[in-house]
Amino acid sequence: MSKCVLRLWSLVFSALVFLLVRPIGIFAQGAYNSGYASQASTQIHSLKVTVLSTMLVGDHTGIGEWGFSALIEADGHRILMDTGSHPDTVLQNANDLKIDLSNVQDVILTHNHWDHVTGLMTLREAMMKKNPAALSRAYVAQGIFYSRPSPKGERNSMIAIKKEYEASGGKFIELEHAAEIFPGAWLTGPVPRKYPEHNWSSTGKVETPSGLVEDTIPEDQSLVLNTTDGLVVITGCGHAGIINILTFAKQKFPNEPVDAVIGGLHLFPATDQQLDWTADKLKDFKVENLVGAHCTGIEAVYRIREKLGLPRSSAVVGTVGSTFVLGQGIHTGPLAK
Ligand SMILES: [Zn+2]
Ligand SMILES: [Zn+2]
Repeated sequence: MSKCVLRLWSLVFSALVFLLVRPIGIFAQGAYNSGYASQASTQIHSLKVTVLSTMLVGDHTGIGEWGFSALIEADGHRILMDTGSHPDTVLQNANDLKIDLSNVQDVILTHNHWDHVTGLMTLREAMMKKNPAALSRAYVAQGIFYSRPSPKGERNSMIAIKKEYEASGGKFIELEHAAEIFPGAWLTGPVPRKYPEHNWSSTGKVETPSGLVEDTIPEDQSLVLNTTDGLVVITGCGHAGIINILTFAKQKFPNEPVDAVIGGLHLFPATDQQLDWTADKLKDFKVENLVGAHCTGIEAVYRIREKLGLPRSSAVVGTVGSTFVLGQGIHTGPLAK
């Protein structure tokens, strides 16, 4: 083969490599940035979500508190999301509801706020007596351990809890991006803030790698379940903004309707304009069910229900013990109807 032909082959080969590798590189970079890979996700066929901590309680069952926690049971997987605001509330409420948490290995902490993380060590210590692996793996998102300095000292209780939890044998899995934690169950990791929703009340600062900035609770993450009836999205406080959260979820699942939104949406201090904007956007996502617990706000639930044209049975204020069951909808206590 002449030098010239060899050079030609080398050019053709380089061009082929460029054409093949470069798009993959771009795609991989895109997927890495968005956090969502492109492969089809398995769908969840059975799902039950039970609220274990929120303000409202039914008769003779549970303790109400400003906080949030829920047990998610999906296709045989059991996972606890958030742990309430008092050390004993979730323990007590699970007892009252006859729910055994000792065979739940995984816990998700949506963000650093005390009303979501204070029950972690009580629950871990109580449950590990029965099963050392109980609540031993905690999914968190990047930013949850950032310092929140204030004149009174450190405001982020997760810094102290981390030491205690790891000393008990617990392990944190810290997400920088979205990740599938079991087939069909996606944790968002930190959510891109496309819209300027300001769904948080704190005015403190956070010490990030790029300096001390306003604390937007950058680690706020939600759980997105890809079910046979559509997406079920479970939030803690929804500080990233429910519209930002749903927008991010739809990047991964553009053709799926939103079957349910469950959890805290931090809309209780929202203005009429903010509520109207949020409700209008929720309408675009075709939300079928809403369990507005914790910081969603009672008025916000009513407004959203009205704007979305949902029946009373499909948009309720969450109570301790209220459930959402795939294919059935919301089962709630008499107080929330
Ligand atoms: Zn919060
Ligand atoms: Zn909260």
